[in-house]
Amino acid sequence: MINFSKSAAFIAGNITQERKNYITTKLGVKQLCSSDKYLGLPILMGKSKATSFGNLSETFATRLRGWSSKTLNQTARTSLVKSVLNTIPSHYIGNFKLPKNIIKKLNSIQRTFWWGHKSNKGLYLLAWDSLNASKQEGGLAFRNLDQFNNALIAKLAWRLCIESDKLWVQVLKPKYAPHYLMLATPRRWNASLVRKVFDTHVDNLILNMYIPQHGEDTLIWEPNREGTFTVKSAYRALTSMISPTTQNSNKVPKLVWKKLWSMNAPHKIKLSIWKYLKGIVPTLVKISHYKPNIDTMCPHCKVDNETIEHLLITCPYSPSVWLDMNINVSNIQHHNTSVTDWITSWFSNVQNMDAEEQNTWIMSLMITASQIWRNRCNNKGIRGKYFNGGINAEQAECLAIKEALNWASNFHLHPIFLESDCQNVVLFINDVVPHVHWVNQGLVNEIKHQLSARPEITLVYVHRSGNHVAHTITNRARF
Ligand SMILES: [Zn+2]
Repeated sequence: MINFSKSAAFIAGNITQERKNYITTKLGVKQLCSSDKYLGLPILMGKSKATSFGNLSETFATRLRGWSSKTLNQTARTSLVKSVLNTIPSHYIGNFKLPKNIIKKLNSIQRTFWWGHKSNKGLYLLAWDSLNASKQEGGLAFRNLDQFNNALIAKLAWRLCIESDKLWVQVLKPKYAPHYLMLATPRRWNASLVRKVFDTHVDNLILNMYIPQHGEDTLIWEPNREGTFTVKSAYRALTSMISPTTQNSNKVPKLVWKKLWSMNAPHKIKLSIWKYLKGIVPTLVKISHYKPNIDTMCPHCKVDNETIEHLLITCPYSPSVWLDMNINVSNIQHHNTSVTDWITSWFSNVQNMDAEEQNTWIMSLMITASQIWRNRCNNKGIRGKYFNGGINAEQAECLAIKEALNWASNFHLHPIFLESDCQNVVLFINDVVPHVHWVNQGLVNEIKHQLSARPEITLVYVHRSGNHVAHTITNRARF
């Protein structure tokens, strides 16, 4: 039974339009043109595959436009890339081998979104391919579209081999796979075909295999234990052939990745430890590899360049943060241990500690390390109350002091000790050092003026670790 209203014919070759019209009218069906689609799929591949698949990347990009990558954190973006993005094209990639440039474009859309950039021009600290690697290989297990496409196409090939009773197989097989590797009576290999299909090493192995003369032939899919084809096993087999190209992944043992991801911690904490291990925390020194000419001096202590080691271990501010968590990092400081080695050592078994104690211990380390980076970003004005894009730590502190002064005046409070952990600002206001950044001088002069009228207010410098109450409150406020 043919439903003519749902049928159509495509007529190729040198046939005049008049003749085409005649044929389709006679058949009682619509006429198809080469760009027509069925269930969203191109029916005919034109000369340019890129044109046929053009709207795939459009759909992909449109789907993402609904989400602002800036307002979502990286954990949320990771889930989105994995769920939304990879589910869209499965009906496409299950039937067609996608052109390389389309794969490249789709990867680029995902990559831009995941890094939180608006355009393709942002800073990419890690190749997309290495993010595709499994979590145990140090990646984030994003799907490798190219290999997933291959695995799905392989499924079609597998079905072509085993579904010999299906009509589509009976039509396609004589055209695309008319020859058999095995010849009948007596059963033997089709040697010339085997040699044509496989390379020398493999064809020798095949041709030397013993062939039983009785019994039935069965097709076995070796990558799956049950011997039947699954897309998952094909994908795994294909991706295991690609070695991750990440610079740091070799140094970190698989067991460490495994333990990290199995920790019962919020994903954002695990993701930040993953970044430390990968060496992709965007410290000023790291950014300077991509953008030379920036000032790489640690904005907090102004003593050394801001590397990942400095930030976490040697910056004068860091040991006090670790000490708050009862962790002494002086040993690590003295031995010049790299951050990767140090974090790796967290996950090795510690003597005299049971599993639960050890988990708690690792959790404290992980939370502290990730908090140090968060604090650093907050201090740099990336987030925070006074943030409007370009504010620096000094300015944020000045604004905070000014607000505290206003607040104290409004409530007629006195005497007052105002504590700040920004040494430079305090010293300048109290006339000890000659200058702050010129941008903040006007603001600081206003504060000085206000203070001169209020002798009962004293501004003192207190190290961050000395102000536990404020420290705890700000930490709580952030979660
Ligand atoms: Zn520092």
